[in-house]
Amino acid sequence: MTMKIAVLPGDGIGTEIVAEAIKVLHVLREDFGLDMETEEALIGGAAYDATGTPFPEATLKLCQAADAVLLGAVGGPKWEPLDYSLRPERGLLGLRAELELFANLRPAILYPQLVAASTLKAEVVSGLDIMIIRELTGGIYFGQPRGRRVNADGEREGFNTLYYKESEIRRIGHIAFQTAQKRNRRLCSVDKANVLECTELWREVMIEVSKEYPDVELSHMYVDNAAMQLVRAPKQFDVMVTENMFGDILSDCAAMLTGSIGMLPSASLDKNGKGMFEPIHGSAPDITGQGVANPIATILSVAMMLRYSFNDAVNADRIEKAVTAALDAGYRTADIASQGTLKTGTSAMGDAIIAALRA
Ligand code: NAD
Repeated sequence: MTMKIAVLPGDGIGTEIVAEAIKVLHVLREDFGLDMETEEALIGGAAYDATGTPFPEATLKLCQAADAVLLGAVGGPKWEPLDYSLRPERGLLGLRAELELFANLRPAILYPQLVAASTLKAEVVSGLDIMIIRELTGGIYFGQPRGRRVNADGEREGFNTLYYKESEIRRIGHIAFQTAQKRNRRLCSVDKANVLECTELWREVMIEVSKEYPDVELSHMYVDNAAMQLVRAPKQFDVMVTENMFGDILSDCAAMLTGSIGMLPSASLDKNGKGMFEPIHGSAPDITGQGVANPIATILSVAMMLRYSFNDAVNADRIEKAVTAALDAGYRTADIASQGTLKTGTSAMGDAIIAALRA
């Protein structure tokens, strides 16, 4: 059956890096028999400019009909003055919510060739390979009531609600345990159970779910300690699972352990394993149009798509090995360049990965 991929390049460097990922997909189709077709749609600022909304109905329909979604990035200074409801980022949040993409998988892997690009000492990060699983459609980013008001004393107040039902915790728990089963069978659940009742429930439910996975070792850590441990001794972790806001913060922190945000892919999955795949970085307005953006995070997002949505580990491995081979050959975009490497533009990096795929 032909796999249908909805492609949403978005804004800024989104269009530049997605073009390289598409090149890789085409090579897999031509040379390795990958049965897929792609169709593009607008999202974010580009969609707002063309249609007056950052999340057009046609884009939602295409994504709903597709087997997977590949996204570049959205946003940029041009759209910052817009009302909150029309901002490019609303398009992305809308898509995540509409497709019920509750499980966000963010691997943080340090390629041995890039040890020098990390801000941490080589012995702390070399060999790093962790997976952070963030709950993506619940928690304080979505909880009601929320808002701002002026109280009876005339003082301004702002408030948000941290809310989870046990079914939401349970389903992300299952994803986390199953991911740990495919790795080193260690899962650390991050919460703030000593202070927040909602995450006390989180811990309770994680313990209940763990009974179904006796082969996985479950541990718990408070989020403040987890932040500290991620920069002190990150290799102690295998898989981490946490609620939406904690995961947002911890996964960006983990990203930087690996040297560049331009290296890291992500997957956001629904309950059937259908997903949206995207680099974790944004639209990088500061380097847009210069042809220097690193396309590797997006190309590795395609590998995650093949692995998680299409169950095609063979082609996923091919992509990951080709990225390693291109790095071994010394190709580096500006964000990961160091002395003695070949400074490479966006398109040339895509070509180097394709050459390695075909080698
Ligand atoms: P950013 O991730 O776009 O950029 C942060 C820094 O990393 C910049 O210096 C940028 O040049 C660099 N960078 C990012 N990706 C790179 C790549 N592939 N290669 C080389 N360098 C890269 O974050 P920001 O500057 O805070 O945000 C810019 C815009 O992107 C904002 O409008 C923001 O809302 C949006 N954003 C979108 C997403 C998304 O679409 N998922 C995520 C984060 C931010």
